Amino acid sequence: MKINIIGGGPAGLYFAILMKKANAARRIKIHERNGPDDTFGWGVVFSGKTLANLRAADADSHAEITKQFEAWDNVDVVHRDAKISIHGNSFSGIARLQLLKILQRRAGELGVEIEYRSEIQDVESLKNNCDLLLAADGVNSTVRLRYAEQFQPELDVRTNRYIWYGTNQLFHGLTLTFRENDAGVFAAHSYKFNSSTSTFIVECDPNTWEEAGFAQLGDEQTREYLGNVFAADLNGHPLLSNNSKWINFLLVKNKNWFFENVVLIGDALHTAHFSIGSGTKLAMEDAIALAEAFQERTGVDEALTNFTSKRRPVIQDYQAAAFESMVWFENAGKYMHLSPVEIAYNLMTRSGRVSYEDLKRRDPQFINQYELGKSV
Ligand SMILES: Cc1cc2nc3c(=O)[nH]c(=O)nc-3n(C[C@H](O)[C@H](O)[C@H](O)COP(=O)(O)OP(=O)(O)OC[C@H]3O[C@@H](n4cnc5c(N)ncnc54)[C@H](O)[C@@H]3O)c2cc1C
Repeated sequence: MKINIIGGGPAGLYFAILMKKANAARRIKIHERNGPDDTFGWGVVFSGKTLANLRAADADSHAEITKQFEAWDNVDVVHRDAKISIHGNSFSGIARLQLLKILQRRAGELGVEIEYRSEIQDVESLKNNCDLLLAADGVNSTVRLRYAEQFQPELDVRTNRYIWYGTNQLFHGLTLTFRENDAGVFAAHSYKFNSSTSTFIVECDPNTWEEAGFAQLGDEQTREYLGNVFAADLNGHPLLSNNSKWINFLLVKNKNWFFENVVLIGDALHTAHFSIGSGTKLAMEDAIALAEAFQERTGVDEALTNFTSKRRPVIQDYQAAAFESMVWFENAGKYMHLSPVEIAYNLMTRSGRVSYEDLKRRDPQFINQYELGKSV
């Protein structure tokens, strides 16, 4: 079987690893437009459950990934200078670059061919030259655009703006911080992903963005502005840029997940707002589900049909929860009148997937605090 893959991100690399591991005779080639050390972004997070899935799928890469991990079990909510911690939420972080290096190495060991600095524009000839073409080419997928008629994508550009930074201030837990100034409300999503660095994503609504005058500010001025907004949280550490730019979140769905021998996975197929967990987790779990479909079915068409029918309900559920969470952050201004403990409770239950009872079981102390101190 010959497999061509466009995109050497987590989805493309992990699928290649799993398919080659299952059958060494498969000829698998990844085309990646960047070099092996070029990357964007800072840390990525995985839940305890995702880690168990990664261990079951490939113990070797799981062992490497977990060696590099920073783990925590708390969500911290910071509002009006008070920090509320909610325990019982197991997560771990790793640098995206570290993760990609581990997956690149593992794919290489197994005999997957990776061609770097190979940007694919002629998708059709790659499609005609293999049994399976995997489109793992990210949120702005060329393949999805090329075959838009077949995939029928639904693209929804959301109004909030967000920007990914790093910082050497360490946030020991998934920390959600709210700060207000004359322009409006800013939310930061932060967590450490190695012993010296945290991811720090800032999000705000379009009015706040306009009022703050970001359209006129360059990279350094923007970091300085946001550094002042979050001065109490950053403890003197600057925000670090990695070609960081303001982005509108793009919500991606596709009516059809495959046609003929072409299938979409990862961000090319679907996105889920970063406030509920990383796209990396979904991308790698897609790869697991698709590789499993090829274990169970021999024909490409059968395997792709099987993948779609099994994975679609999982993704729909996940996107529905992520949607509620995204809308919460789009309307963050409406919740600023709440006390810190109330906002923490509201945030924890925002997606409708975590109940009062769940929280009571995970962290009874937090629920006591909530019951006693709704007016803190
Ligand atoms: C600016 C930014 C920063 C981010 N930072 C983080 C972060 O810190 N943590 C986190 O969890 N998530 C982050 N994300 C989200 C994350 O990138 C995705 O959810 C996740 O990586 C999805 O994996 P993927 O393999 O589907 O896609 P990607 O990781 O996007 O990988 C797609 C790959 O395809 C390659 N590619 C695209 N088109 C072509 C082409 N025509 N030919 C050849 N190669 C091509 C790209 O270079 C890329 O390597 C970030 C997203 C953005 C836009």
